[in-house]
Amino acid sequence: MASITLKGLTKSFNAGDDAPAAVTDLDLDIKDNQFITLLGPSGCGKTTTLRMIAGYIVPDKGTIHVDGRQISAPGNVVPPDQRGMGMVFQNYAVWPHKTVYENVVFGLKLRKLPSAQMKKKMEETLALVNLTGLEARYPNELSGGQQQRVALARSLVVEPGILLLDEPLSNLDAKLREQMRVELKRLQRRTGITFVYVTHDQAEALALSDQIAVIHGGRLQQYGTPQEVYARPANRVVADFMGLVNLVPAKVVSVNGRTGTVAAAGDLKIDLAVPDGTKSGDNVEVSIRPENIRLSTTANGSSTRAKISERTFLGNISEYYATLDSGQTLRVQTHPGQVFAVGDTVAVEIDSTQCSVFRNPASAAAHS
Ligand code: ADP
Ligand code: MG
Repeated sequence: MASITLKGLTKSFNAGDDAPAAVTDLDLDIKDNQFITLLGPSGCGKTTTLRMIAGYIVPDKGTIHVDGRQISAPGNVVPPDQRGMGMVFQNYAVWPHKTVYENVVFGLKLRKLPSAQMKKKMEETLALVNLTGLEARYPNELSGGQQQRVALARSLVVEPGILLLDEPLSNLDAKLREQMRVELKRLQRRTGITFVYVTHDQAEALALSDQIAVIHGGRLQQYGTPQEVYARPANRVVADFMGLVNLVPAKVVSVNGRTGTVAAAGDLKIDLAVPDGTKSGDNVEVSIRPENIRLSTTANGSSTRAKISERTFLGNISEYYATLDSGQTLRVQTHPGQVFAVGDTVAVEIDSTQCSVFRNPASAAAHS
């Protein structure tokens, strides 16, 4: 229903001193009718960004446009209630002494709709979030998941073009969280509302989003589809944050255009795409996901020898630590049917199409 454009958005809470800003120079293009997620560790600036979009925090610099209309620029900031946005919080923030109906109808009362129209809207909204039949209940007679649905309904009933959600599932238990994920995604599709979702949980971001904005230290690291940020991380910070990864020191052996060969951890040769400007002899870092490493009992031309140093059975997968002759240990995930014992010698093969190379690993690390 609405597109959002952030340009150069910056906010510091400690004007004057040298402390880093909470959000620095953030550019983001959020398309109409998308589910986008701001993802990053605690303190990286997600809530500050969301509250700037909502209008509760005034940016130091930068602009915000909605559907091409400027709603925020220094000295010219549209107040929250005139932005056509709804907001949902982690702690639900429902009124304990109002029923479900009273909680949800509140926003409509302010708009003074005719009662028949109000009733119809209420029924539609409660059905949308699966609360039909619970209108007379009080929040303490509802589960956490149902309370969060009340909060959702309250935001949705006024038909916002944009819904901002700040870690809305983090107070729910694991099973309910997964169920609500599916419901939220369905809700976004059905309503066409642009969702801007905040979480520190990468699995949640991967499952829900059309686009993920990975933020670290108040700066945008990468903006892309779940597949892109997972399989093609822009830097080691993103690679490290998006699930498990082996970050292995490597040396470039040869370069041929966009591809090259690196020797990782001494003897593990990997052919893969390399960044522009990579030269033979460069020290780099290779990121290898645990599921892109194959272990077998029989060696072949491209495999490297390793010894199993640890084994963990996790139900749907097994996890191994395989230590190469160089001493480098790789974390590996395999089908649970494939069983090795600690001490076994195995052959290691890497799916090089799924690996990434990062240059200047030392300076990159200093920035993270
Ligand atoms: P996140 O939501 O990603 O956990 P926040 O946006 O809440 O992060 O915070 C980003 C940074 O700004 C943190 O270092 C936090 O301590 C700081 N910060 C947030 N709000 C305030 C505030 N009202 N006053 C001072 N510092 C703040
Ligand atoms: Mg936060």
